Amino acid sequence: MKILRRYMFNRLGNFNYLIGCEQTQQAIALDPLDGQQMLDLAEQQGWQIKLIINTHEHHDHIEGNPVVAAATGAEIWAHKNALGKIPNQARGLVAGDIVELGSIRLKVLYTPGHTPVHLCLLAEADEHNPVPVLFSGDTLFNACAGNCFNGGDVDTMYDTFVSQLNPLPDETLLHPGHDYMKNNLAFALSREPGNSDALSWQAKVKNVEHDDMPVMTLGQERTYNPFLRLHSDAIRSTLKQEFPHLGEGDRDVFKALRALRDKW
Ligand SMILES: [Zn+2]
Repeated sequence: MKILRRYMFNRLGNFNYLIGCEQTQQAIALDPLDGQQMLDLAEQQGWQIKLIINTHEHHDHIEGNPVVAAATGAEIWAHKNALGKIPNQARGLVAGDIVELGSIRLKVLYTPGHTPVHLCLLAEADEHNPVPVLFSGDTLFNACAGNCFNGGDVDTMYDTFVSQLNPLPDETLLHPGHDYMKNNLAFALSREPGNSDALSWQAKVKNVEHDDMPVMTLGQERTYNPFLRLHSDAIRSTLKQEFPHLGEGDRDVFKALRALRDKW
């Protein structure tokens, strides 16, 4: 499995992904925004796009579908709850489904919260793929969680983190749907000012262009992403300044962080 990531220079800062099988030269276009760019990229690689997958229904994750579908005949797959929301969706995926194309094997995780139809794709480690890879759409970003104010629900997002993301191993590589890493690290540091990992990554990525941003592991994210650090004393004590009646539960901390990030 070979992953090509391209930053879209749009206002929302999306990443587009082409996931290819080097044995069969077949590829999956994930969340295409600039369909023509995905077609050009596939041609450069000698790949045929066989499938389009959308993590969710927001326009910046589906806009390139028609161009890619028209040129390749690729079907559009997304979560079953997206049927009727994504034009020309051919298949409704559910949790546990395995998307197979050549040597590519992607397990569907149902991850509602950002929207009720959101899915993530997990490539588990196997003979073709040395480390697990998570395509997280708008559920998990570098140093942040996705927002919940455009059709989403923060309690559901918290449940998704607990049930779907927290169990994944530290070595899992993270491929999010947008690049907000610099801004998110600044937010993380506003919550946890002494976090040396956040400080060190902030310095490392300061002058890095979007297309060259590092691919982080979940283990690294767990050192600085506040939404994965709900037990941090520093985060809890900083939050109590804004939320004097903050509850002790992880859910309370998660929701308070998301509420603050909404206004960041
Ligand atoms: Zn979205």
